[in-house]
Amino acid sequence: MPWRSSALALLVLGAVACSSSTPSGGAAPAASEKTNAEDSGSPTGSSGGTTPTPQTDGGSSPDGATQPPAIAFPAKWIDGTACGTDPDLQTFQITPDTFILRQSLCTTFEGPFMYLFVGSTKALLVDTGTGGVDLKGKVTGLLAGKTVQLVVAHSHSHGDHVNGDPAFKNQPSTTVVGTSVTAVGQFFGISGDAAAAYDLGGRVIDVLPIPGHQAAHLAYYDRETKLLLTGDTLYPGRLYIDDWNAYRASVPRLVAFVDAGHPVSYMLGGHIELPKTGADYAFGAQVHANEHVLQLGDAELRELGAAVKAMGNTPKREVHPAFIISP
Ligand SMILES: [Zn+2]
Ligand SMILES: [Zn+2]
Repeated sequence: MPWRSSALALLVLGAVACSSSTPSGGAAPAASEKTNAEDSGSPTGSSGGTTPTPQTDGGSSPDGATQPPAIAFPAKWIDGTACGTDPDLQTFQITPDTFILRQSLCTTFEGPFMYLFVGSTKALLVDTGTGGVDLKGKVTGLLAGKTVQLVVAHSHSHGDHVNGDPAFKNQPSTTVVGTSVTAVGQFFGISGDAAAAYDLGGRVIDVLPIPGHQAAHLAYYDRETKLLLTGDTLYPGRLYIDDWNAYRASVPRLVAFVDAGHPVSYMLGGHIELPKTGADYAFGAQVHANEHVLQLGDAELRELGAAVKAMGNTPKREVHPAFIISP
């Protein structure tokens, strides 16, 4: 999430933000692996008021895959309102081989979301959160019984997305991708601004560079579920932007990617910073009562694209129903 604000927050709050490299202070409890009803392994509840209709046209997808699943997202994520009983990590299983994980706001105000895609030979974990929770144990459990190489990659290099990396480094059957523009480009075989296809074994993930929030930012598109991970470039919250010129080129590139035969079921980002109604939570808030749904849709991407285009070379803060442009 934050970029400029993160530096300020470090001074004001002494807390970690998107570009920091240290875990959150103060309220961060020791790591503890908990499982309870919140740690749902199957879809429950409804997806809320702004849920987009799942894309049902799978015919134009690059791999000719079958139609994506209609996902019943959790009615509520762990939101910092039940720190005594909520787990440090909430797991939501989208399909047998697709997972969303959320790090508890009780452990970091960032409350980052992480994603796990499993193919026949590799599993791709996108982001590792702020650290201080047993993400590795959780992922290991989700991969139990599968013989796959775990590839740990990132939406971008800010601390709230990479600080959990150390637990995965130097582990068997595990590769941790570097976080620089060069490192991610070399690993995925990215050439220029074009998307690169990364095969997990019977499951291809397209990786598209979308710098702007941060220079090494990537979008990930899963051809199987038609999910598009947008990281901190687009999520229901404050869209902080490091390099405006890069950002206003990346957003239309993402739209063009979708239009080029990559229909989207849902856009899933790195955080939630908006309630269902009303103003955004205060920066650093660790209680998110009545959170906005995580999932956005094609419409929100196009709305962002139109807004960015209209601003031209004069970015400004602009509040939209499902996101806030915060250059
Ligand atoms: Zn972030
Ligand atoms: Zn960030």
